[in-house]
Amino acid sequence: MNKEVENLFNDQLNQWKLVGSNYEALSNVLIKEFDINGHTYRVQFNPARIHSSTAKVDQESLLERKCFLCAKNRPVEQKGLPFGTQYQILVNPYPIFNKHFTIPTLQHINQHILGRLGYMLNLCELMNEYVVFYNGPRCGASAPDHHHFQAGNKGFLPIQEEWSEEEGELIVGNTTDGLWFLNDTLRTMFVIEATHKEKALELFNILYQTLSTTPEEPMMNILAWRDKHKWIIVIFPRQKHRPSCYSATGEANLLVSPGSVDMGGVIITPLEKDFDKITAKHIADILKEVSLPHERCVELITQIKK
Ligand SMILES: [Zn+2]
Repeated sequence: MNKEVENLFNDQLNQWKLVGSNYEALSNVLIKEFDINGHTYRVQFNPARIHSSTAKVDQESLLERKCFLCAKNRPVEQKGLPFGTQYQILVNPYPIFNKHFTIPTLQHINQHILGRLGYMLNLCELMNEYVVFYNGPRCGASAPDHHHFQAGNKGFLPIQEEWSEEEGELIVGNTTDGLWFLNDTLRTMFVIEATHKEKALELFNILYQTLSTTPEEPMMNILAWRDKHKWIIVIFPRQKHRPSCYSATGEANLLVSPGSVDMGGVIITPLEKDFDKITAKHIADILKEVSLPHERCVELITQIKK
């Protein structure tokens, strides 16, 4: 456990009213649980996440608003802890996890992962009781114009326990440092299990280059954490930012904007009507729709193996 991180969390809860009450409210949020093909999915009714779920991420809207991750625009109560020379650890004032942090760069630079995974792995070492996650600019990041990671306490996302039970195919590497494809029926998933940081970065770059088909970053969500002496990095390749139900009208509408947390098995519904309505079928449809199709992943695997 990192004492400075824990102190920051406790201090912010005690000294910042909004944060104190938002974390207290979290203990009363409604949760529904589903078992889909042997996997656990929880739905969390979390009204405070409405701003994130409905964040306008087009260029024009981003230019019009003040970036909430830039130090000059942040509330005076929000304190940060330096992480290296480029990042700051902040308590997320609108939590999903019992302990939820945002780790933005000091500089206002676009959300991107290439060349940044090493920092994410360092963060996993510093915050080894947390899962660190990354939402691509069109995959759930509500500030795609300001690079950031997030972290939440372990033991919350079902995928963290369940990934190792999935049937896996080793694509490249070995059992010490390897890139795997997991045969999950709803979400397509690549996993890097690595003892050596350099190897992890190398394997990630292979996957990244293979996923890259346009000058833009390939769409993805990433979860990473330390497990004993290893890093576990779960990559969800995406084909769609928001599912069709997000913009559907009438009964078909469901305000779910999936990011790493949702892909990891906790679906966030900021509206009560959606929390009441959502079924296992909705969850399966949403995850399938936004994930890169299985056939496409099979092509990528063949390409990597060549
Ligand atoms: Zn910014």
